[in-house]
Amino acid sequence: MKEVTKMTNEKAKISIKASATKGRSAEQARTGAASNSMAMKLLNVEAMYGTFRAVNNVTLDIEAKSVTAFIGPSGCGKTTLLRTLNRMHETLPGATVKGSIQVGGADLYDPSVDPVRVRRSVGMVFQKPNPFPAMSIAENVSSGLRLSGTKSKSDVADIVEESLRKAALWDEVKDKLKEPGVSLSGGQQQRLCIARTIAVEPEIVLMDEPCSALDPLATLKIEELIGELKTRFTIVIVTHNMQQAARVSDTTAFFNMGADRGGYLVEAGPTSKIFTNPSNKLTEDYIAGRFG
Ligand code: ADP
Ligand code: MG
Repeated sequence: MKEVTKMTNEKAKISIKASATKGRSAEQARTGAASNSMAMKLLNVEAMYGTFRAVNNVTLDIEAKSVTAFIGPSGCGKTTLLRTLNRMHETLPGATVKGSIQVGGADLYDPSVDPVRVRRSVGMVFQKPNPFPAMSIAENVSSGLRLSGTKSKSDVADIVEESLRKAALWDEVKDKLKEPGVSLSGGQQQRLCIARTIAVEPEIVLMDEPCSALDPLATLKIEELIGELKTRFTIVIVTHNMQQAARVSDTTAFFNMGADRGGYLVEAGPTSKIFTNPSNKLTEDYIAGRFG
């Protein structure tokens, strides 16, 4: 038990690899992701559902401590690609991934990498807020901590408070931490889910249309929160809302579908450039609302 606690408390960032510094310099091994300003490097990533190639050949750098938005028409593979970034895609029967995704010098898909550790380092927030129905507000936030071994009651309480503060929810819930998570409003529930995700100190947070079930005010709150979170975390957000991508992201990646319905990356770049002066006519047409 002692060992487990020690391992999970260690602050070593992107601890996806249980052992091993194979193929890495001593410097890289020591500093981990900090040695590299790119949080993730995707190289020729493909994702299949059986024989259907939903994502083709994506090569993309995702910068650390910034917000990258995935945009593009429905069905172009945004969610699928997002789910390859924390090894969730492969949990579906028949679903496979090719190519490489480098994080801090290690490949997420290296056979020595434990997918459970990946999902800890790369957290995910879903379209619909999904607090655990049987759990209180506080239990929802601490639910991931329990899996990671022992912590004292006061440590857990501290982490719950800190995570709720970071998720801009503390002031609204501090007097009712024992009430069910599902008793909160939709927007509060989504911030609760964000608090739950960041409580385990991931390096990267993936968000799949996190505001699509929320009203405009709750959406605004989440967008403000994303702006604060990016000082600590690397964020990748899928959004179908162009204004939202323009407001919250630093980098935008635009995806489209080919004739075979397979998704591919059209272009990626600084959000200001993608929205005002894209390189590809397709990007311009999509942003102007001419298709999708
Ligand atoms: P987006 O998030 O951009 O709307 P998705 O990643 O959800 O797109 O879907 C990409 C493609 O993969 C679509 O053609 C969709 O029908 C297909 N797809 C998604 N999930 C599955 C699945 N579980 N099994 C088979 N095909 C799927
Ligand atoms: Mg989607």
